[in-house]
Amino acid sequence: MCKVFSREFSNASIPCAICNKSSIVTIIHASMRRLKTEVTPVLEAVIMNPPEFPQMRMRRLRSLPGLRAMVRENHLRVEDLIYPLFVYHGQNLKREIKSMPGQFQWSMDRLHEIIDQVVALRIPAVLIFGIPLEKDEAGQVGCDDQGIVQTAVRLIKSRAPQLVVITDLCFCEYTSHGHCGPLIQTDHGLDVDNDATLPLLAQQAVSHARAGADVIAPSGMMDGMIAAIRSGLDQAGFTNLPIMSYAAKFASGYYGPFRDAAESAPSFGDRRTYQMDPANAIEAIREVALDVAEGADMVMVKPGLSYLDILYRVKSEFKLPTAVYNVSGEYAMVKAASINGWIDERRVVMETLLAFKRAGADMIITYHALDAAGWLLDNGTGS
Ligand SMILES: [Zn+2]
Repeated sequence: MCKVFSREFSNASIPCAICNKSSIVTIIHASMRRLKTEVTPVLEAVIMNPPEFPQMRMRRLRSLPGLRAMVRENHLRVEDLIYPLFVYHGQNLKREIKSMPGQFQWSMDRLHEIIDQVVALRIPAVLIFGIPLEKDEAGQVGCDDQGIVQTAVRLIKSRAPQLVVITDLCFCEYTSHGHCGPLIQTDHGLDVDNDATLPLLAQQAVSHARAGADVIAPSGMMDGMIAAIRSGLDQAGFTNLPIMSYAAKFASGYYGPFRDAAESAPSFGDRRTYQMDPANAIEAIREVALDVAEGADMVMVKPGLSYLDILYRVKSEFKLPTAVYNVSGEYAMVKAASINGWIDERRVVMETLLAFKRAGADMIITYHALDAAGWLLDNGTGS
């Protein structure tokens, strides 16, 4: 063991001036500290005396498919997947979303077609978005027991009682202006009225619960939303209904295709006064901490691919059931490249979904769910 490095060990950023092993040792030890893995004396000895080339050859364990499978650290399962669904007003509708090839808006009378597919593929859960016929300034239609999401939930639960139905809880699909709550005039112009939105969110959550939703997933990034919803649900007797909070949701350009799908693009401005700045990571941890303190049972990071560092930090820090949203723009890019023959879609999708698992996701909300589940059922790894 190198004495000089040993002395400097507490400061992982200082490389050893004597031996050349220090960089790899530093990296291994630093990552173990990040993972909060206990460093036992035996482990310490192994770390401090790493075997070197040519005694150590990392390629040995990559030589056979069976061997690679045995030492694989992360696995994607069908049970990890959640499929987002768009329910649209009207009749006899299965309308493909232009910017999301292979994804559709479904009218209520044809919803059973996609639900039966989801069940056949053994995907455990769906996330429901609804596009109503009528919209208004405050999005009151979102709280209607006969509303589009509420009706869809009842229909899905009667057709597939075992399927976990998660409802997206927000107002942007129901407001005429496309923002996530009623508006208020501020010094900087019109903005969403945070505190006026809270009781409305509670009201909508209780309505989803009455319809039979299994999980409520608030996505509006309002301060205090989890506490308001938890209290509303508890007062209405739904003490057992879990909340999956869109806790760290960034103001992202990757949502573009979704806004076509959910017809929820803001009619003016953007959502930067309530969704997070893409530059901020520490703030994301604070957001999650607040939601956990307010009673969130599960937390989500959205989008996925550009925010894997956030996902990793959230899982490492809180160790709560953590979801990631592989958003519409991420899906659209893969689809476009695949349609052009530029990438191997199956390989890229499976690699992407596995990356979410590696970064710490327990649940992956993805438009690729149907394809991925089919591939997983096909050969176990999907690759
Ligand atoms: Zn919203």
